Amino acid sequence: MIGLRKARLPDIAGDFSCAGCERTFRSTELDRHFWCDACVATARARAKRVGWIVGGGIAAALAAWIFLVLQPTMLIGGWIGVVLATFWLCSRIATEFWYGQLRFRRRPR
Ligand SMILES: [Zn+2]
Repeated sequence: MIGLRKARLPDIAGDFSCAGCERTFRSTELDRHFWCDACVATARARAKRVGWIVGGGIAAALAAWIFLVLQPTMLIGGWIGVVLATFWLCSRIATEFWYGQLRFRRRPR
């Protein structure tokens, strides 16, 4: 089975240019979307940053809603757990969406 992250092109003769930075590489140095390692790492880091911001924003909004509107008096730890779970889940989802979006635009930045 082909792994999603580390799938490489087979060794094909000739020069290939990275779809992100347009530098020239051997075919084995690019992944199946024709991206080099540096571009993948840049896009991953950027997507992670966006994911943290989106997840943090949603979690902060949820926390504000819970503590201002619901005003829980019991099980505060449970509500904090809900906010943390929301942060983790939303940041992961936003990271993957943003990474897909960067891949689709073929621009790592
Ligand atoms: Zn590149």
